[in-house]
Amino acid sequence: MTTAHRIALIPGDGIGTEVIPPATAVLDAVGRRHGVSFGYDEFDWSCQRYAAEGAMMPDDGLDRIRDHDAILLGAVGWAGVPDHVSLWGLLIPIRRAFRQYVNLRPITVFDGVRSPLSGARPGDTDGGVDLVVVRENTEGEYSEVGGRFGRGTDGELAVQEAVFTRTGVARIADYAFDLATRRRNHVTSATKSNGIVHTMPFWDSIVDERASAFPGVTWRSEHIDALAAKVVLDPSSFDVIVASNLFGDILSDLAAAVAGSIGIAPSGNLNPEREFPSMFEPVHGSAPDIAGRGVANPLGAIWSASLMLDHLGHPEAGAEVLTAIRETLRTGETLTRDLGGTATTDDLTRAVLDRLA
Ligand code: ATP
Ligand code: MG
Repeated sequence: MTTAHRIALIPGDGIGTEVIPPATAVLDAVGRRHGVSFGYDEFDWSCQRYAAEGAMMPDDGLDRIRDHDAILLGAVGWAGVPDHVSLWGLLIPIRRAFRQYVNLRPITVFDGVRSPLSGARPGDTDGGVDLVVVRENTEGEYSEVGGRFGRGTDGELAVQEAVFTRTGVARIADYAFDLATRRRNHVTSATKSNGIVHTMPFWDSIVDERASAFPGVTWRSEHIDALAAKVVLDPSSFDVIVASNLFGDILSDLAAAVAGSIGIAPSGNLNPEREFPSMFEPVHGSAPDIAGRGVANPLGAIWSASLMLDHLGHPEAGAEVLTAIRETLRTGETLTRDLGGTATTDDLTRAVLDRLA
């Protein structure tokens, strides 16, 4: 029996278009071993499209991908097109329409990758670093509520409101605690209730409430500033970190960057209820400085495909892909330039495919 999945591909701009083919090649290869097949529909939604047609995607774009099982995105962004265009013209509409309220960012330090981060004790794998940042993806500090007043006067001021809802905080906390039960049963909640005196105490109290439904999971609350320092100084003390939109954004980029190359880091924008497609994308951007040269690291996209396999109900296949990534890095024979090697995107993809065979 074969399970068939329909995937919407949005390669996007720059190296986005170079890392998606490696990801689909890996999906096809691992799928064959697990009785899973993938059909792909490709969409040219990108800053290039914006330059030609004035919109990142067509008016009915969301309807065209609504019935797919998942979305795999490369990267969007290009010189001359302001960041807010790709964000508000594509990424945010998709996240909101499809209720992708979880942003999932796993971080490990694979053997063979140089990183200042290490929590390793003798016998540990992955440098002793194996944590997941669960970022709230739809509300919080990134809101449109606010404005600028008294423009041009001495009294000019800007107000930006953060909006936290009981539903929004409870569901991200539930996701984090539930994820912890499938990992090492620990959650750290990022707060700043000493300085942000309305929303953060609200966040803290709801996390505390939800924790009682997960008696097997221990948890602690830490101020974001101290927490950020600890991710660098003592990363092995974390399992799952749950954070608001802004805190999670900063924390996940910080952790991914110090863990090695941003070229490896994956992410998932999840609709845990599976009412709508979830979206998987490498953390890196379109990297105009290396685009078109065939030297981009495809592992961020390939690891994102592994997260997609987990989400689609094929965790064994997802784990096999992660093992292939880990083993390929460990040998250190086929590394792209961002990892200190000379391999091309194709070379590194081939090395991962060979491990899967
Ligand atoms: P964006 O605004 O789209 O997020 P950015 O400029 O913030 O883009 P990236 O596009 O991720 O960030 O590029 C940051 C740096 O990391 C660049 O020097 C780029 O070449 C490098 N880089 C990013 N992704 C990769 C990759 N997959 N392989 C190799 N190098 C990469
Ligand atoms: Mg960026």
